[in-house]
Amino acid sequence: MAASDSNTLHQIDQPRRRDLDKCVHCGLCLNSCPTYRVLGLEMDSPRGRIYQMVQVHEGAPISPSYLEHLDLCLACRGCESACPSGVQYGRLIEDARAEIERKIERPWLTRALRSFVFGKLLPSPTLLQFAARGLWAYRTLGLRTLASALGIFKAFPKLAELDQLSPEAEFPSFFSAYGKVFPAEGTRRHKVAMLGGCVANVSFARLNEATVRVLQKNGCEVHVPGNQTCCGALHQHAGIRTTARHLARKNIDALLTGGFDAILTNSAGCGSTLKEYGELLEHEPPYANRAAEFAARVKDINEFLASIDLNTQMGPLDITVTYQDSCHLAHGQKVRAAPRKLLRSVPGLQFREMPMADLCCGSAGIYNVIQNEMSMQILERKMDFANSASTQVIATANTGCMIQLRAGVKRHGHGQRVAHVIEILDEAYRKSTR
Ligand code: SF4
Ligand code: SF4
Repeated sequence: MAASDSNTLHQIDQPRRRDLDKCVHCGLCLNSCPTYRVLGLEMDSPRGRIYQMVQVHEGAPISPSYLEHLDLCLACRGCESACPSGVQYGRLIEDARAEIERKIERPWLTRALRSFVFGKLLPSPTLLQFAARGLWAYRTLGLRTLASALGIFKAFPKLAELDQLSPEAEFPSFFSAYGKVFPAEGTRRHKVAMLGGCVANVSFARLNEATVRVLQKNGCEVHVPGNQTCCGALHQHAGIRTTARHLARKNIDALLTGGFDAILTNSAGCGSTLKEYGELLEHEPPYANRAAEFAARVKDINEFLASIDLNTQMGPLDITVTYQDSCHLAHGQKVRAAPRKLLRSVPGLQFREMPMADLCCGSAGIYNVIQNEMSMQILERKMDFANSASTQVIATANTGCMIQLRAGVKRHGHGQRVAHVIEILDEAYRKSTR
């Protein structure tokens, strides 16, 4: 990239004045902000964070206090849905983090860790599968039991919390489906591409397989292109724009030319970022138009299934289910009705709303690890709402939320099962006798 292009990107990788000026400081977003609800501090509210961004825009230094308040934001975008003035807070926080990433040198250990996780691990099927084997060994070869027997979890309660938040390793991984085409059941009505994700390929491989089956049941020929890569959502949320753009270009090259009716994901966090590829690459002329075209074809799996003539040949499921909105589906993609419609289409299933269903559960990518204390406080409150629905199942539409809610059930729940909406549909199709 030429130096002038690089400078242009630097100017856009920071909050823009016109975006900041949309905030009229009314405070109507405060009650939707999980960190403000816990702390009650203006500087940890959307309005307070925007105020601090304005200060930095006007020349104030990026201080430790600024970093602290912005790091504590979940980027859940609950404030965006609540705002009557159209403030695009998601864009603001990502721009602010991109600016921090450019201007602030983090301690060397943090830099090394971030460089490994974001630059090497997440985009690499080989390293992800290697990490999954390590996780499997930890869980099944007695290392976890040993740690518990030695009292390590009691001595270091934080380690016990992080242990609860570590994902499972599932074999075979979904990377084995890469490069394959799965035929539609019956007449082919749609030709779709599916993104497997990054960690999801090794930790939610069975969910990805269920997604393929549900699509096949609905007349979809499902392509899983082999040259796709991580969507870059975690990079975007952390302000690591260079890698996010690199991954976006790779996915566009891999998926745009296949003539697909839709490009699908079962992860709300991924979907939200994939739909924003147009904005991410809008200043890169060779890719700008293709990125916009790509983004227009992306659909969350719930959104897609609710928009087609759904196959209703399902067996009955005698269960009670509530639904936790994933932030990046409800606030990021404005998809709220679709998962509820799908759940209600399952015969026998009783659906019950929980209060404040679209309030963040505290997962937010790797926030629950990095900001564990705040995340657990938010989760405890979320579980109060989930418990009040008195259901056997808590359904959601994002893998990160599933991990977080499972930890929530262990700590504060009533033994509920946490499932993806698609897993419930898959069970219903499997019970069909027709
Ligand atoms: S994105 Fe979420 S945590 Fe951050 S300011 Fe908005 S509501 Fe609060
Ligand atoms: S972000 Fe929106 S709701 Fe919140 S203070 Fe600003 S204008 Fe009001």
